[in-house]
Amino acid sequence: MRAHRIARVTLPDTATPATVDTLRRVFGYDAFRGNQQEIIDHVVGGGDALVLMPTGGGKSLCYQIPALVRDGVGIVVSPLIALMQDQVDALTALGVRAGFLNSTQDFEQRREVEAAFLAGDLDLLYLAPERLKVESTLRLLDRGTIALFAIDEAHCVAQWGHDFRPDYLALSALHERWPTVPRIALTATATEATRKEIATRLNLDDARQFVSSFDRPNIQYRIVAKNRPEQQLLELLTTEHKGDAGIVYCLSRNSTERTAAFLTQNGIEALPYHAGLDARTRAANQSRFLREDGLVVVATIAFGMGIDKPDVRFVAHLDLPKSVEGYYQETGRAGRDGLASTAWLAYGLQDVVQQRKMIATSEGGDAHRRRLGVHLDAMLALCETVECRRVQLLNYFGQQGEPCGNCDTCLAPPESWDGTVAAQKVLSAVFRLDRERRQKFGVGHVVDILLGRTTAKVTQFNHESLTVFGVGAELSEPEWRGVVRQLLAQGLLTVEGDHGTLVLTDASADVLGRKREVRLRHEPKRATRSSGRKSAAAAQAELPDEAKPVFERLRSWRAATAKEQGVPAYVIFHDATLRQIATESPATLAALGSVSGVGENKLAKYGQQILDTLAA
Ligand code: ADP
Ligand code: ZN
Repeated sequence: MRAHRIARVTLPDTATPATVDTLRRVFGYDAFRGNQQEIIDHVVGGGDALVLMPTGGGKSLCYQIPALVRDGVGIVVSPLIALMQDQVDALTALGVRAGFLNSTQDFEQRREVEAAFLAGDLDLLYLAPERLKVESTLRLLDRGTIALFAIDEAHCVAQWGHDFRPDYLALSALHERWPTVPRIALTATATEATRKEIATRLNLDDARQFVSSFDRPNIQYRIVAKNRPEQQLLELLTTEHKGDAGIVYCLSRNSTERTAAFLTQNGIEALPYHAGLDARTRAANQSRFLREDGLVVVATIAFGMGIDKPDVRFVAHLDLPKSVEGYYQETGRAGRDGLASTAWLAYGLQDVVQQRKMIATSEGGDAHRRRLGVHLDAMLALCETVECRRVQLLNYFGQQGEPCGNCDTCLAPPESWDGTVAAQKVLSAVFRLDRERRQKFGVGHVVDILLGRTTAKVTQFNHESLTVFGVGAELSEPEWRGVVRQLLAQGLLTVEGDHGTLVLTDASADVLGRKREVRLRHEPKRATRSSGRKSAAAAQAELPDEAKPVFERLRSWRAATAKEQGVPAYVIFHDATLRQIATESPATLAALGSVSGVGENKLAKYGQQILDTLAA
C-alpha cells in the first residue's frame, strides 16, 4: 500500500488489512457498513463491480478506499461539475490528495492538475464524463497509472431513466482502452430494468453486482392529503423542523419561487432553485444551502443529485413525483448522517389529473407514454396504499420488508371502506356526461352533479335531469374528490385532453356491472396534523441536557472554521460526530481520536481546538 501518500501519525499495524487501516486512520470510522468491505476487497483485487446502494448508504468509500490502497490514481467520473470543488475539499480535509478536471477551470488550473496527476501526486481525480470524449484527456490518462475507474451516478447512462446524460454512453469504451483497470459503477437507482440497462450500456455484464438493502430506516415516510399545501408545509416546518435544513420539491419553476417567498415571509429562510435561474444565482443558492446551517431550498427536480450534505433533516414534496424511482432518490437526500429525518409528500386530486394530462399530451410514441403511465401508476399505488409505505417501496425495488413502525400508515393505520356504490355513482355520472362528447366536463362538475348543486353550468346543460343528479348527499365535496382521486389512481377512471375531462376505462365496466368491489381509503376529516406527537426526528435528535450547550459551542466553532476555510460546515465534522463529542466530552487527543468521524488528519488539525472548546 502507499503509506507515503497520506499524512500518517502512526505506522500501519501489519495485522490489520490495508483497507481497514485506511478506513480507521483516514476516515476515522471503526467498521465497514453493510457490504462495503466485500465491494472494496473485490475492487482492490482488480474486479469490476456494479454497486446499488441507497443514497446515504456509503458508496463513496467503495471507490475511495480502493483508490488509496491500489497503486495509481482513482479516476472518478461524475456529472456533478458544480460539486467537484466541494468533493475535493472534503477529501483534502481528510488528507487525501484529490483534484478535478472540468469546464469551469481555466487553462492554467487544468495544467496544474494534469501535472499533479502525471507526477503521481494525486490519489483521486474527478472528471466530467464529456472530458473522456476528448482525445487529449485520454492521452493524458495513458501517461499516468490508473488505480480504477469509478462511474458515479451510473443510472445517468440509462436512456429511459430520469437523469439520462448522453455523455455517459461513451463510458463503455473505457474497458477497451484500459482492459486491466477495474471499473466500479455506482447508483442509488435500482429497479431491475435500470440495473440491466446500466450493466449492458457500460459493458459491465460480467461485473459482480452488489445490491444492498434499499431501506433507509431513519427516514419517516408520510404522504398526506393536499388541502392548503403551503399552510400544511409551514405547519410541518414550524412544529417539527424548526431551524432544520431541508429540501422542498415543486413541479414548476413558478411554484418554487412562490413557495420560497411564502416561507421567507413566514420566518423560514428559503431559497429557490430551478433551471430557469441564471447559472450564477443557481450556484450561489446551492452553495449557501451547503454552507449555512438550517436553510431550506425550494426546488424543481433539477436540484439535488450528488448533494451530499449529510444533515438534510426533511424532504417535502408539494407535488406528486412522476415515478417511485425519482421519489426515492429525492427523499433519499434526507438523513444521510443516519439521524432521524422526514420524507413528507402532500398529494391531491389535481396532481393525478395534471400528471395524466401531461402524459396524454406528451411527445414521444405510445410506448413512451405507456411507460410514463406505468411509472405514475406505481407512484399512485404508493400514495393510496393502506399498507406500510416502506414495505411497498422496498417491494418496488424487488426487496422484502416488515411493517416498519416509522411511516404514517404504520403509525396511524388508515381505515378502508367499501366504496363500490360511491364508485358506481361517479362512474355513471361520467358515463352520462361522456355522451355529450362535444363538451368538456372536469372533476368539479361531476362532483356538483352528485351533490345536486344547481350551478350555472348544471342549468346551462340541463344536468338536473340526469338520473345521477343529487344522488351523492352521503359524502362531502372533499370526500367525493377523494373518491375520484382514488378511482383515477386505481385506473378505474382516466382523463383526456388538455381540459382534464374524465373518461371511463376498460376496467370501469366491471365496477358498473357489479363484477368488482372497490376498496377506498378514508379521507382524513381535517387537515392532517401530526397529532401533537413529538416527531421521531425531534426525539432522536435530543441530546442529554448537559451536552446541549457544549454541542452549540462546537457548532459555533465549526461554523467559524468552515467560514474561514470557505468549505461547508460538514466538511469539518458532521453533526453526528459533534454530538458524540458533546456527549462523551473526551479529555485527551487519544480519546477524541476514537470518536467516529475523527480521522488522523482532522485530529492533528483540529484536535487541540476541540479540546479547548470543550474546556471553555
Ligand atoms: P452515498 O454516496 O451512498 O449516498 P456517502 O458515501 O455520501 O453515501 O456516505 C453517506 C454518509 O455515511 C457519509 O457521511 C459517510 O461519511 C458516512 N459513512 C460511509 N461509510 C461509513 C462507515 N463505514 N462508517 C461510518 N460512516 C460512514
Ligand atoms: Zn411502515
